[in-house]
Amino acid sequence: MNTYAVQIISSDGVFYYGRIKNLIVPATDGEVGVLPGHEEMILALREGILRYQDGEGEWYKAAIGRGTLQFANNRCTVVVDTAERPEDIDIHRAMEAKQRAEEKLRHRLSDREYRILQAALARALTRLKLTSQD
Ligand code: ATP
Repeated sequence: MNTYAVQIISSDGVFYYGRIKNLIVPATDGEVGVLPGHEEMILALREGILRYQDGEGEWYKAAIGRGTLQFANNRCTVVVDTAERPEDIDIHRAMEAKQRAEEKLRHRLSDREYRILQAALARALTRLKLTSQD
């Protein structure tokens, strides 16, 4: 049992489906690694970089939005708002989203508006971080 089945689903559809050896996700209180045979768990995910290692040992990265992860019976399901591979990220769009969020955050805001803009900023920063890594 050195792999397990994972499904990564975003609002756009199935992002990834396959057997993997390892998964590292951005959870609300830090990064969490998920190896085969992990005990049952449900995790809240925050905006950040998800990494997984396929059955061949190759690592892949994706920028994800908020969501949840469930692990049970050696199967993992990740459901997130958004997921993008580095090559699918439009850097210009992410830079514009970052600037837009930063500009609006300078104004007086309700708690709700503030939370929405912080989340938008976190998504943009994650996309930029993923595309600036080698
Ligand atoms: P924007 O303000 O540019 O729309 P956003 O963070 O509000 O950014 P989301 O609501 O997170 O966008 O995503 C909407 C859709 O657009 C999703 O399918 C997401 O994967 C995609 N997306 C958002 N930003 C980018 C980007 N910079 N490059 C590629 N795809 C993106």
